Amino acid sequence: MVDDQLMIIEAVRRLLADERDIFFLYCLNPVTAVSTAIESRPTIILQDLVMPGVDGLDLVRRFRENSATEHTPIVVLSTREDPKVKGEAFAAGANDYLVKLPDKIELVARIRYHSKAYLNQLQRDEAYRALQLSQRQLAEANWALQCLAAQDGLTGIANRRFFDNFLELAWKRASEADRLSLILLDIDYFKAFNDTYGHQRGDECLKQIATALSSLVNQPTNLVARYGGEEFAVVLPDTSTSEALYIAETMRAKVESLGIGHSGSKSSPWATISLGVATITPSSKISPAALIAAADQGLYRAKRSGRNQVALFEETVESIER
Ligand code: GH3
Ligand code: MG
Ligand code: MG
Repeated sequence: MVDDQLMIIEAVRRLLADERDIFFLYCLNPVTAVSTAIESRPTIILQDLVMPGVDGLDLVRRFRENSATEHTPIVVLSTREDPKVKGEAFAAGANDYLVKLPDKIELVARIRYHSKAYLNQLQRDEAYRALQLSQRQLAEANWALQCLAAQDGLTGIANRRFFDNFLELAWKRASEADRLSLILLDIDYFKAFNDTYGHQRGDECLKQIATALSSLVNQPTNLVARYGGEEFAVVLPDTSTSEALYIAETMRAKVESLGIGHSGSKSSPWATISLGVATITPSSKISPAALIAAADQGLYRAKRSGRNQVALFEETVESIER
């Protein structure tokens, strides 16, 4: 309660003396009223309107301007029932208006009503904040989970599941004139690599090659994925055959230049890859599986012709489906 008259304060204090759950605090000096409220965090403020040195309505406004008290219920205590003063008090931000001295029943009822509403609001705000936080955490966890589900555990690049979705999407997005290219590649004599150096070194080799391949494909529209054991797939939307052949050859040279020793290989002293390239104009008449089969045939030719090389699937992809 803010009032410069100790007698009034004492009268109100007595009215509330029996109410064990109402904790009464007073402030005689209106100048320190706001700072007192910030410290004591009342659930309701009873405030006199006529005090020396401070305009009562101004004090109401000051409570409203402070973030610590902006929503605290304020009941102004006036000496008389005056519609004009009443209107001004509500306009300044008061929540209620009582004429001094109110009777005990009315005073207690209003204190309880406003305090409870205020506490409920604080609880709702807190619950809302907690809800927002958990929703954000859930969204972040979902995103992390999605990334994890799309990733190959060993190499960290996209996995087969992501590749399948990506290719299907690229297929649907491609318009009539678009050329979509696919590279399938496979490490040469990798079984011999494992047999010679052990499975762990084999894993290391897979990781190194995955990283090297990824470093050559920077556009977000392209994708390098681990297709299977030691096979990788590169999806190149809006890419012609000659461009795809160029990228494939760059990949072949890059992997060889890593200089990963491979004494069990019959095609090079180092670990190498063979690559098959196929290009198509996607349409609803052909399935992505046909493009994969075409690139796989290219890969088979590269293997048969001596490995460590790029081979193009030269027929039309459409012929595969027939
Ligand atoms: P080619 O040149 O014809 O491709 O011969 P290759 O030996 O590479 O082919 P093959 O299919 O006979 O053997 C593939 C090997 O790749 C066998 C398998 O143990 C190995 N491999 C597949 N996945 C992994 C893996 O995650 N880690 C390791 N270390 N080896 C793998
Ligand atoms: Mg192989
Ligand atoms: Mg293989």
